Amino acid sequence: MGRVLITGITGQDGGYLAEQLATAGMQVHGLVRPHDTAVSTLRERVPSVVVHEADLADHARLRQVVDDVEPDQLYNLAGISSVAYSWEHPVLTAELSGVAVAVLLDAAWQLQERTGHPVACVQASSAEIFGSAAQGHLDEQTPVRPINPYGVAKAYAHHMAGVYRTRGLHVASCILFNHESPRRPTTFVTRKITAGAARIGLEGSGVLRLGNLDARRDWGWAPDYVDAMVRAASRDVAADYVIATGEAHSVAEFAEAALRRAGVGDQWRDHVVTDPTFVRPTDAAVQVGDASRAHSDLGWSPTVGFTDIVHRMVDHDTALLQGDDD
Ligand code: NAP
Ligand code: GDP
Repeated sequence: MGRVLITGITGQDGGYLAEQLATAGMQVHGLVRPHDTAVSTLRERVPSVVVHEADLADHARLRQVVDDVEPDQLYNLAGISSVAYSWEHPVLTAELSGVAVAVLLDAAWQLQERTGHPVACVQASSAEIFGSAAQGHLDEQTPVRPINPYGVAKAYAHHMAGVYRTRGLHVASCILFNHESPRRPTTFVTRKITAGAARIGLEGSGVLRLGNLDARRDWGWAPDYVDAMVRAASRDVAADYVIATGEAHSVAEFAEAALRRAGVGDQWRDHVVTDPTFVRPTDAAVQVGDASRAHSDLGWSPTVGFTDIVHRMVDHDTALLQGDDD
């Protein structure tokens, strides 16, 4: 049985990852923020999980947790995950999504040097490292040119993953395009839309206040992306992998699909309002990925398409409003 350490285990991806690895028989350890109230939900989902309190900003404690757990695999999922939030907190984003990654990779490398036991690491990188790249489908060769504070922090971490790979650590950097689920917070546009659409569907009135309706994103299903990370950790050779569906849809298309699912029909346009509050200083017009390498090296393909994702999320939010708990 292998031992795995997951940072960000209380987040959307961390929960799915912990479930998948515990089901596979791994001993799952999670790094959690001190006094994190989300731990109780995590324990309901994965009763066997062992948690270790540490803030990403506390470098000494991060190293201590890596040394205490001595993991066979380390998944770094923790950090600031929202582009919108990173505009408000650019320095914190650099510290938590950038510098802390160097600390964790160095701790894993030191552990490996000391014990002679390999530590396979996965860095949760992001399509935001590519910024507004002009080419159609982005892949591992696309130049790294971020255009927001989140992308810059993730780019630093992505490059550090490459540096430690060269140094002999097995580090896969999974360049994740947006991926969603009913566990996504409403600060992200998809869940904001599905939660709002569910309410509008039940009440028959209300509007979705959104920013850039024309932004096109490659939205996948979160458990699929977690599975890709597991495959990347287990492969003999570590590499960068774009994880994406290859299909882009606009925010407006997402809103239409959600409102239709909620029962609003052709009147859906009456329930969408553009609000400048949610428009960002810069925003890539389109982000769509080419996951050919993940397909050929990892045998990975997405299993849930755009319409299904929207429907699952709207149905979940409708059930929540009707009083059915997750
Ligand atoms: P998420 O739901 O926002 O989870 C982030 C996790 O980081 C949470 O467990 C959070 O703990 C933890 N965290 C935040 N600040 C921390 C700190 N100071 N110390 C310790 N832990 C801290 O993110 P996600 O959607 O699961 O994404 C997972 C990873 O993939 C992230 O690195 C994200 O940037 C990357 N990614 C995600 C997407 C996507 O579409 N979801 C796309 C590209 C890349 P709390 O519970 O205490 O908040
Ligand atoms: P992120 O950009 O990866 O953090 O994911 P989001 O879900 O926050 O944003 C995805 C896209 O939706 C971006 O292009 C946003 O500009 C766009 N968007 C449009 N309206 C909204 C909104 O009201 N909230 C958010 N969060 N994003 C919006």
